[in-house]
Amino acid sequence: MKQGLINDIRAAIDCPEQQVLSIARKQLHLPERTPAYIYRRSLDTRKDRFSFVYTVAVETDSDHPCLRPFPSYTFPSPISCGKTVPIIGFGPAGIFCAWLLAKCGCTPLVIERGRPIEERIRDVEGFWKGGDLQPESNVQFGEGGAGTFSDGKLTTRIHDPRCRAILETFVSFGAPEEILYLAKPHIGTDRLRHVVKAMRKDILRMGGEIRFETKLDGLKIENGQLKAIYLNGSVHETDTVVLAIGNGAEDTYRMLLNSPLEITAKPFSVGFRAEHNQEALNKRIYGKYYGMPQLGAADYQFSYVTNKATSEAVYSFCMCPGGQVVNASSLPNRLTTNGMSVFARDGENANAAILASVRPNTPEEGLELQKRIESAAWNAASGLGPATTGKDFLAKSRPDKLIGPKATFCPGVSPFDINELFPADISARLRDGFARFRERILGNEPALLTAPETRTSAPMRILRDNTLQSPSCKGLYPCGEGAGYAGGIMSSAADGLRVAEQILESLR
Ligand SMILES: Cc1cc2nc3c(=O)[nH]c(=O)nc-3n(C[C@H](O)[C@H](O)[C@H](O)COP(=O)(O)OP(=O)(O)OC[C@H]3O[C@@H](n4cnc5c(N)ncnc54)[C@H](O)[C@@H]3O)c2cc1C
Repeated sequence: MKQGLINDIRAAIDCPEQQVLSIARKQLHLPERTPAYIYRRSLDTRKDRFSFVYTVAVETDSDHPCLRPFPSYTFPSPISCGKTVPIIGFGPAGIFCAWLLAKCGCTPLVIERGRPIEERIRDVEGFWKGGDLQPESNVQFGEGGAGTFSDGKLTTRIHDPRCRAILETFVSFGAPEEILYLAKPHIGTDRLRHVVKAMRKDILRMGGEIRFETKLDGLKIENGQLKAIYLNGSVHETDTVVLAIGNGAEDTYRMLLNSPLEITAKPFSVGFRAEHNQEALNKRIYGKYYGMPQLGAADYQFSYVTNKATSEAVYSFCMCPGGQVVNASSLPNRLTTNGMSVFARDGENANAAILASVRPNTPEEGLELQKRIESAAWNAASGLGPATTGKDFLAKSRPDKLIGPKATFCPGVSPFDINELFPADISARLRDGFARFRERILGNEPALLTAPETRTSAPMRILRDNTLQSPSCKGLYPCGEGAGYAGGIMSSAADGLRVAEQILESLR
């Protein structure tokens, strides 16, 4: 029997799911016994239409015009060559690439500069309590990659059938089942850590190898073909490597910029984290429905075009309901923020990055801008988070006192006019956008702004051809967010699968 999907079934917030399935069957003129389940549920918060909106999957051979095809993806079939494939980086891209290669008969050799998750958690928590930054084990580096200390949001704008397979894989390794049907699924940092560990164990069980505290520090390329990679200074001969390094490894980026690889500049964004009271946001967004047990912590998306001619915008990014602003530094004397929440999203504050896009002319220019802002932020408060109130930010004044929501950033914040961290044109755009954000999202709620947010996406793209290899180095597969082909956990994981499929194809 085929599966099909019917969209746009609206139901009241407290409508039982069995009733939603019955509505779907009726609309399709199918008998009540037809197998059906909730495929997706989103929340429409518009005042006059406040409801859940469902997509229902049904098992039927009917060709009713309202039915659309079920997205299908099947993992490739195994091969019998057993080739060892080095994969640099064990974030979502590296994990899914390694897992699929192992599942299909190859031997992934994962090279990760950071530490296993258990040690990494101790390192990061020690740093947040005021201890020293561990340059190789922090929020950017270590098992699980950059998103391990995150909200674990699994939303993506890519429409790739691999996404369903990724969600199912996460569930099979212990993620909550609701991620399969929520339109805005999230795992939470607490659950994500267990999922990552379970995937590591499965890769090892299938014969893969993982070397932690091992860094790729060089490439040997001859006549456009990869010959070897350097790991902690030692040569390792190989004709294939997957480069899934994420966007936080500045030293690796600089090493690659000195190699023959073709690399171009890519737009990215900078800004700050705004945090404000979650309950007040729930009341504002849910209105008379506030308090209904079916509704979790409210979220939002905000975007405002600051320059119509160039389409430059200020927008919210990586909103973390009930979350915490985190110190996401990976370099000494540098500071950058990000957001995180646990599965329950039950913290007092909501936070989101408020960002302005930048377009560097060269990859080096992008790296220099990040460096300039992050260093200025560290110097501003000697490692504490430079923070201001919304009102002081708009007035370009140094706050006397940080009135408003209690800062979640650890080890603490220090009053500073964060306008000073950015080039003048960027801070002007951020002020313009934030003024609109206050009107549309905050209302009268006070906000605390901690800066800077700088690692939103890669400042460069490592080019690849239609076989997903570097045109200037056969055998080298740029992959995931750091290579400029993904943005977020889901799209990075999907790119990891895509690269693994391509490698398998080349070996068949
Ligand atoms: C705090 C935080 C919160 C986030 N929240 C979310 C969220 O809720 N949802 C979402 O979709 N995205 C989120 N992101 C973004 C998301 O984490 C990234 O998009 C995603 O992790 C990118 O995956 P990746 O595998 O390409 O790279 P990464 O996850 O960055 O992994 C790259 C890995 O490569 C390793 N590495 C780098 N250089 C070398 C080298 N030379 N040798 C060996 N190893 C190396 C690094 O140590 C790292 O572990 C968040 C990011 C951060 C920092």
